[in-house]
Amino acid sequence: MKSQDYIALDNQYCAHNYHPIPVVISKARGCKVWDPEGREYYDFLSAYSAVNQGHLHPHIVEAAQDQLTRVTLTSRAFHNDRMGPFLRKLCAYTGYEQALPMNTGVEAVETALKAARRWGVEKKGLRNGAQKIVCASGNFHGRTLTAVSMSSDPDSYVNYGPYVPGFVKVPFGSADAVREAIDRDTVAVFVEPIQGEAGVVVPPEGYLSELRQICSSAGVLLMFDEIQTGFCRTGRRFAWQYEGARPDIMCLGKALGGGIMPISAIVADRTVMDVFTPGTHGSTFGGNPLAGAVGLAAIEVLETERLDERAFALGERFRTELSDARLDKIRVIRGKGLLNAVVFDEGFDAFPTCLALKEKGILAKQTHGNIIRFAPPLVITDAEMSEALEKIISVLRTA
Ligand SMILES: *Cc1c(COP(=O)(O)O)cnc(C)c1O
Repeated sequence: MKSQDYIALDNQYCAHNYHPIPVVISKARGCKVWDPEGREYYDFLSAYSAVNQGHLHPHIVEAAQDQLTRVTLTSRAFHNDRMGPFLRKLCAYTGYEQALPMNTGVEAVETALKAARRWGVEKKGLRNGAQKIVCASGNFHGRTLTAVSMSSDPDSYVNYGPYVPGFVKVPFGSADAVREAIDRDTVAVFVEPIQGEAGVVVPPEGYLSELRQICSSAGVLLMFDEIQTGFCRTGRRFAWQYEGARPDIMCLGKALGGGIMPISAIVADRTVMDVFTPGTHGSTFGGNPLAGAVGLAAIEVLETERLDERAFALGERFRTELSDARLDKIRVIRGKGLLNAVVFDEGFDAFPTCLALKEKGILAKQTHGNIIRFAPPLVITDAEMSEALEKIISVLRTA
């Protein structure tokens, strides 16, 4: 079958909850993907930063293949021999005492919110039902009813009521707004250190460290959603490290699965994590041995290939070369590490530009109409980056 035939099948049989770029991917390796006709593309989305280690990284594939000959699923009713080594590695890499493994990102978000609410009652002495969590407008925390209850994006939010109560939305980037929103029923402040889906919105310098200080003095938990920004994407292992603003709970997902399977987790120290006792939270698939083998290998790749340093250096280069090209239509180029966005004028529709990029061999997707995110796998080589930049600049020049 040809690309057109696969697209027709998707349109007929899949709910229309996405508007994809019309390209069919049937093979991938590193930072490149191919369609059924054999055309080659650079992947500048990386599955929304879930393939930081590159497609089919040999070390991760080997770990998965090996585990597929042993055992893949046990449930947490029993122990398995892969979860412990995986979580020990995750804790060492993140610098936390414990982890709670789940599957998709939004489940890590739910887990963090549940931990905070329980902590409010059990450690702060609040009445159950009174707990409030401060979140930021423009956020993206996933698609469950709880996550969309925090959303201010009409596409995510409209007609899904009744919404989960207990959230207070404040403008992103204003520490003063957070300070004013906190009252005696507040249990946590929950934000992304850089808002990814909102269009790579980087908060003012000092915001994260100020939030850390506000939360510490108010006695509330600071929780960061690092599902998209984490695991080297922004040029550090985690984006909060730019300001030393270590959160009490961190939500992780996407690249934790090494591009192979959904793996997520929260990490925290014991004083927070011990609010969970047997039976109070769980997941059939969370902590499964296949995920343990893959997650461990995924972290090993980030560490041994120093992908944080690579992302930092390549990101500087990407932004410098794009701004040196002095492209007329572009208002801002922003980002950290290899999480970057090109912002066009308000009202500009970037979809045709994404189609033109595709024709040139670059896959990227617009967000919010006038913004295109550029986030290649962190294993992209200098030579590949040069070739990709040349293509991107030539398309954006005529956008
Ligand atoms: C992608 C994402 C999520 C949701 O992850 P899923 O695996 O799609 O559930 C949550 N938060 C952020 C910041 C994300 O980018």
